Amino acid sequence: MSARIYAIANQKGGVGKTTTAVNLAAALSRLGERVLLVDLDPQGNATMGSGIDKQAVAQTVYPVLLGLAGAADARLHSADGGYDVLAANRDLAGAEIELVGLEGREHRLAGALTPVAEDYDFVVLDCPPSLSLLTLNGLCAAHGVIIPMQCEYFALEGLSDLVNSIKRVHANLNPEIEVVGLLRVMFDPRMTLSQQVSDQLVAHFGDKVFRAVIPRNVRLAEAPSFGQPGIVYDPGSRGSKAYLEFGEELISRLSRAEQTEDM
Ligand code: ADP
Ligand code: MG
Repeated sequence: MSARIYAIANQKGGVGKTTTAVNLAAALSRLGERVLLVDLDPQGNATMGSGIDKQAVAQTVYPVLLGLAGAADARLHSADGGYDVLAANRDLAGAEIELVGLEGREHRLAGALTPVAEDYDFVVLDCPPSLSLLTLNGLCAAHGVIIPMQCEYFALEGLSDLVNSIKRVHANLNPEIEVVGLLRVMFDPRMTLSQQVSDQLVAHFGDKVFRAVIPRNVRLAEAPSFGQPGIVYDPGSRGSKAYLEFGEELISRLSRAEQTEDM
């Protein structure tokens, strides 16, 4: 079985993409799955949050996208997280321009992951906060998109842009892609607005909203400064437990989908 590839995407910044990518990778790995986390953001937050120094890395995803290195040689291991990482740093900002001139510019990541896909059960892609060529590479490589959403007033604004981009990718570049689900993050149950927006999401998107809800939890925010995923830094925290539940939910959805395919 080749890896299931999930892009964590939302063109807004600060909505919890990286926190979700890192903790999902760590949760799946804790649940016994073989995981590769790909950092597609030049900010390198997923890299740092996995305990890998983005300034000191010899290999990153950047030469991999340009076809100058193989993913098998460029991948690193997050000892604490228990998963492999294709790291990123500022260098990746240049890729945006360099990729434009290359053949199959949207499919560079998809092509690069093929040789290592057998080594993993899951590949998690942490996308940058834009609908750039890097995000497009993520969407072209992925089987599914997971959209983290803050339950705030403006949460739904911009969602249609993202969904339209995914539809365009589906029609033109990657017929396999689908929205796997919306994940409610930084949820504050004491806020009436959070509950209202959450209800709205469920009313609109039904089963596409994951049952797991990630609470606002300071332990998740502290963890990156220790170079650890939240679920490693404080496994007992509410945020960690929620990400573990999310990992379990994703695995069980997948096995249900496989059973339906077999019928
Ligand atoms: P993005 O990758 O979408 O820009 P991040 O995952 O970096 O978003 O999150 C933005 C900020 O919010 C970070 O400082 C992060 O630590 C914090 N954060 C994310 N999720 C939570 C949460 N569930 N509880 C508390 N803080 C969070
Ligand atoms: Mg991020």
